[in-house]
Amino acid sequence: MTEEPRSGDDDETRAERKMRFLFALRSRGVTDARVLTAMERIDRGHFVRNIFADRAYEDMPLPIACGQTISQPSVVGLMTQALNPGPRDTVLEVGTGSGYQAAILSQLARRVYTVDRYRRLVREAVEVFDALKITNITALAADGSFGLPDQAPFDRILVTAAAEDPPGPLLSQLKTGGIMVVPVGQSDAVQSLIKVTRLERGYDYQELRPVRFVPLVEGLGSE
Ligand code: SAH
Repeated sequence: MTEEPRSGDDDETRAERKMRFLFALRSRGVTDARVLTAMERIDRGHFVRNIFADRAYEDMPLPIACGQTISQPSVVGLMTQALNPGPRDTVLEVGTGSGYQAAILSQLARRVYTVDRYRRLVREAVEVFDALKITNITALAADGSFGLPDQAPFDRILVTAAAEDPPGPLLSQLKTGGIMVVPVGQSDAVQSLIKVTRLERGYDYQELRPVRFVPLVEGLGSE
């Protein structure tokens, strides 16, 4: 069969590509072994479609449907590391996008709720979760700036779209001791990634690094 010799080559390329991918993550500060293992296990190639598929292993954001983007892998790694989800945790992600970040979280937490304002993105992400047999993610079309009151409170909340301020409903849906990671700032400027920890009284805010995300937009999208 003509495919056979080629499949050997492809395997080698895939292994090399994976090594390069993990090396790039480490060199950009993703050092948490659990996060690296999750990112080794979940192939980003499943979450990138059409002409961009062969760039899935490069450390860059890529376009997805509905004019949105799948985040840069090192940013996914650094955000996951800052969020530090534990195996018993319930996590809310705002901004499903391709579903890649939610799939990484699904390897580290007990249950992941993820919401996006575009029904189409939610539907396509669910198709990939099903194909990968990931069963601990619940994906819903909703305006995530209001959180998910019925499932609250959450141990961890990750927002993958930029808000001008951390949304009040999300702050109030965080458990005491819980952590929220959120990009904050104007949509067309450089934003700051913020780690918010809910204390017994009040919240602690820590600025992590500059980032650039699409804006958190009110209401459901048209697709
Ligand atoms: N985490 C994604 C990337 C997210 S891009 C991934 O791993 O691929 C940001 C996403 O946030 C977009 O899909 C956008 O539709 C969504 N978004 C923006 N505002 C929102 C809101 N108010 N509620 C829910 N999702 C929102």
